[in-house]
Amino acid sequence: MHTGHLRDTSGDDLLSGAMTDDIPFDRTLDLTPGHPEEVTPGVRRLLCNNPSPFTFKGTVSYIVGRGQVAIVDPGPDDENHIAALLDAVRDETVTHIFVTHTHRDHSPAAARIKAATGAITVGEGPHRASRPLQIGEAQRLDASADMDFRPDLTLRDGATVEGAGWTLEGVATPGHTMNHMAFAWRDRGLLFCGDHIMAWSTPVVAPPDGAMSDYMASLHRLAQRSEALYLPGHGGVVRDGPRLVGHYLRHRQGREAAILQRLEKGPVDIPTIVRAVYVGLDPRLTGAAGLSVLAHLEDLVARGVVVTDGPPSLSGLYRVASG
Ligand SMILES: [Zn+2]
Repeated sequence: MHTGHLRDTSGDDLLSGAMTDDIPFDRTLDLTPGHPEEVTPGVRRLLCNNPSPFTFKGTVSYIVGRGQVAIVDPGPDDENHIAALLDAVRDETVTHIFVTHTHRDHSPAAARIKAATGAITVGEGPHRASRPLQIGEAQRLDASADMDFRPDLTLRDGATVEGAGWTLEGVATPGHTMNHMAFAWRDRGLLFCGDHIMAWSTPVVAPPDGAMSDYMASLHRLAQRSEALYLPGHGGVVRDGPRLVGHYLRHRQGREAAILQRLEKGPVDIPTIVRAVYVGLDPRLTGAAGLSVLAHLEDLVARGVVVTDGPPSLSGLYRVASG
């Protein structure tokens, strides 16, 4: 599987599986596609039938409230899922459609749900890259991103939206994508965390869609917050969010240390680092692993720890900064 053709880019499960890994992942999810169920008082969830190595069992959409409701992450442009979502709220009014980020497995259904219900869409903003594109990157971005989504209501970090019986606060969490936003229901101590944190896998952070420095900063932000119950875009609920965030931080720091260890032996390119760091990797995943390493190298170059000629790229040669 080459990342250039991936439409769903959530988890790098298989990549993290190739590393010695101490994250206590939970891969149980007893949910049938198309059948809504209450996951916690006031929140129903509905699984889309789009399983893949990068989406786990599929995208999970949420319905917030009763009577007048909001939908969080309506999902891909999938006929059956859209019909199931509309059926789940058939006697209710949908007032808002929240979008955590604009990957094709999260936001495209917003257009048709909006057309059917008259709800307004809410998000951080349209899709954008984390930095100027290099040769060949536009195509990759296009394959995974929903470039058409424009929220009716652009939510700033910390701003809230009030509905009937619920209030959601935007928590800017760039990194997986630059427009990634989690939504906190503070009164309930819960967070719709999109693809930033998931119970079953760490998410893909792949330039130019994502950026490691932003991703790490967003993890540190969540570690400071009080919400304990995380409702992610894929997989089951996370009962102790801040604890899992701590595992995530250590996992990324461990990968960075492994990359630096290889660099200390002398200047190397990304394929060499991938072979050293991802021992036993499925060859079909070397593209995704290369992007993950590039994400770390971009961060290390920005911090002055590693140097390369010109902007960091997949074909660059990297070495530890001297002095
Ligand atoms: Zn995503």
